[in-house]
Amino acid sequence: MSGRMRKFRRPRNVLEGQPATQAEEIVETLSVSCPKCKKSVDSDDLAESFGVCPYCRHHFKLNPRQRVRQILDEGSFLEIDKDLSPKNILTFPGYDAKIESAISGSGEKEGVVCGTGKISGFPVAIFVMNPQFMMGSMGSMVGEKITRLFELATKEGLPVLGFTVSGGARMQEGIVSLMQMAKTSGAVKRHSDEGLLYVCVLTDPTTGGVTASFAMEADIILAEPYALVAFAGPRVIEQTIRKKLPAGFQRAEFLLEKGFVDDIVDRRRQKKHIASILSLHKREAV
Ligand SMILES: [Zn+2]
Repeated sequence: MSGRMRKFRRPRNVLEGQPATQAEEIVETLSVSCPKCKKSVDSDDLAESFGVCPYCRHHFKLNPRQRVRQILDEGSFLEIDKDLSPKNILTFPGYDAKIESAISGSGEKEGVVCGTGKISGFPVAIFVMNPQFMMGSMGSMVGEKITRLFELATKEGLPVLGFTVSGGARMQEGIVSLMQMAKTSGAVKRHSDEGLLYVCVLTDPTTGGVTASFAMEADIILAEPYALVAFAGPRVIEQTIRKKLPAGFQRAEFLLEKGFVDDIVDRRRQKKHIASILSLHKREAV
């Protein structure tokens, strides 16, 4: 019943008052079919279990607002650069229409949401990429927002927490999108040079230029269960080397075994886990 009631409830805060996005609409229906085990999952149960299927532990995709609600202390989020939007700098055919449809489909102006907040009382700078905005692809504004966030964190002495999901560099911005790999990496390095902590959570899928830059440059790299983390995807590799890849190739569990990620953390215990990392690395006042 509460699933039906929710449609008519007044938003409790500014975030809830945002236009509904595709992922949030999942919560507005009574049940949803799990893409992995195909079982029907009650929407209220799914919302309560942080978007994790109670039968098979499949982690449903989340939009940045849902992530922020799950991970940060209530009311602590202060968004920065929220009005930055992509520009069709190369006048790439069809890109303007794609931008427009991404904005109306996601209710966001770019593929990443950035800001500051608290996790169990620990201050943090946070960026969350958006699978609903051109598959979290990295154009010049995504790179700019992430760079600015690291610069702010460096200035304020804050740790950075990032959630990545991305199809890679945004091809409609050509070389300018590839440049973002170097730009963001420079900002990560300057943050690191100040002895500040960067924790990244790789979510499904994190690929291409994002994997090859800031996603894999964190001090502590976490991943969600079964997340695909790759530079080139498995199909491209198979076609290139003409060999069958091993089962589970490029999945989080495979990468943990090979030492590419430090831990796999179920979404339901991420807040506690990350709070404990922040507590261990807390900077004492000098
Ligand atoms: Zn399932």
